[in-house]
Amino acid sequence: MSRITVLRLGHRVPRDKRVTTHAALVARAYGADEIIIVGDRDDDLIRRIEGVVEKWGGSFSARFEDSWREVIRRFKEAGAAIIHLTMYGVNLPDVIDEVRRIWREGRSLLIIIGSERVPGEVYGLADYNIAIGNQPHSEIAALATFLDWLQEGEELRREFSNAKLRIIPSPRGKRVLALRSDDTSK
Ligand code: SAM
Repeated sequence: MSRITVLRLGHRVPRDKRVTTHAALVARAYGADEIIIVGDRDDDLIRRIEGVVEKWGGSFSARFEDSWREVIRRFKEAGAAIIHLTMYGVNLPDVIDEVRRIWREGRSLLIIIGSERVPGEVYGLADYNIAIGNQPHSEIAALATFLDWLQEGEELRREFSNAKLRIIPSPRGKRVLALRSDDTSK
C-alpha cells in the first residue's frame, strides 16, 4: 500500500520546537503516515505527538533519525518517489496530476521539508522539486497545501480509529464525544 512519509530536515532546539511540532500535527491531520525528523534530538517533541495520537486516534508515528542521506537512500531503494518542497521548484499546479497518478498507482511518497537552509544535494536526489507558488513562506503551509492538493480534500473527511475523543462538528460551541477505549470504529 502506498504510504506518505514526511522528512523534516534541520530541527534545532529550541528554535524549531513549535514549527516542527506543527509540521508533525499537520502531517498527521492531513493524512500522512509518519514523520521522520533529522536534527537535534527532542524526546519531548516525540512524546507530545504520541500524546496527540493516543487521544485523537490513528496510527501516525514520529521519530528521529541521524542521517537524511540514509533516509532518502532507503526510501529510494524501496521505490518511493522523493518530493522536495521548495520555493525554487516546479509550481504545484503544473506537476500535481502526475504525482497524484503515481501515488494512486501505488508508489509511496517521501515529502521533504526544510527549515533554514536545505543542502544542495537534496535538490539533486529529489525526483520532484515542487514549489507551492514561487514565493517564500513556510514549511507548514507548504506541507498542508501539498497534502491537500494530492488528496483533493478527501483527507479532511477522514476519521481516525481508536480515538479517545472525537469532535462533533457544530456551527457554534464545542462538542466533544468521549469514546470507550475499546471502540474500534474507523
Ligand atoms: N530558501 C528556502 C527554500 O528553499 O524554500 C526557504 C526556507 S523556509 C523558511 C523553510 C522551508 O519551507 C523550505 O525548506 C521549504 O520546504 C518550505 N517552503 C517555504 N516556501 C515554500 C514554497 N513557496 N514552496 C514550497 N516550499 C516552501
